[in-house]
Amino acid sequence: MPVVHDIPLSLKSGEVLRREGFMGYSKVRPEIRILIRELLAIVQKAHLLEPAIAYEIYTIIEIRQRQLFLAGKPLIPDLSLPSLLPQAKELAVAVCTIGPRLEKQVTDYTSQGEPLRGMLLDGIGSAAVDSLMEEACKLITSEALSRGYEASSPISPGMLGLPITEQWQLLKLVPAQEIGVSLTSAGIMVPRKSVSLVIGIGPRMAKWTRAEVCARCHLKKTCPYRISA
Ligand code: SF4
Repeated sequence: MPVVHDIPLSLKSGEVLRREGFMGYSKVRPEIRILIRELLAIVQKAHLLEPAIAYEIYTIIEIRQRQLFLAGKPLIPDLSLPSLLPQAKELAVAVCTIGPRLEKQVTDYTSQGEPLRGMLLDGIGSAAVDSLMEEACKLITSEALSRGYEASSPISPGMLGLPITEQWQLLKLVPAQEIGVSLTSAGIMVPRKSVSLVIGIGPRMAKWTRAEVCARCHLKKTCPYRISA
């Protein structure tokens, strides 16, 4: 099962600000922008990001009664995933993490009485996870192209078509422990700045933008991180 380390991440300032929850980027106070720049430099200098991806690509042997069967095992007894990926021949499953170091620094800032620094660094970590997820999509798209197929847009637990409870199942399908990712008894990923996803591989795969995902999300009216079309 493939594991990839040392993935270069590009953190765009707009994405970092969105993940800080600043909807009107132009209204962000200059001192906050300066602090974010300072924290980005610290992230780089102190090597707070240790991005890693563990993934596996499974052949779909059957789609029956709204279930996907991978090598004889039923996956995801949900109503929507097969209808989102009806043409899929294979299913890529990936777990991505930026590791525990940034998270520990966030805790340190907060316990040292610097909650603003902690909050802003946490947002940088979330932007880094988003960027890592894009790298995972590029990796799987290139695997799909090498097989003469397309890759769908990613679906993560909690999104339409993949219940959050399927997180357990997904982590059994990739070598998550090799990149240090596990689940607590409550189903929370550790390190917290981690994400799991599936991508359909086959002819004519469905694609959607992140703005379209937000438009369908039940939190779209209140979520400070939503992306508008
Ligand atoms: S609106 Fe929903 S999908 Fe969009 S960022 Fe917020 S929680 Fe995520």
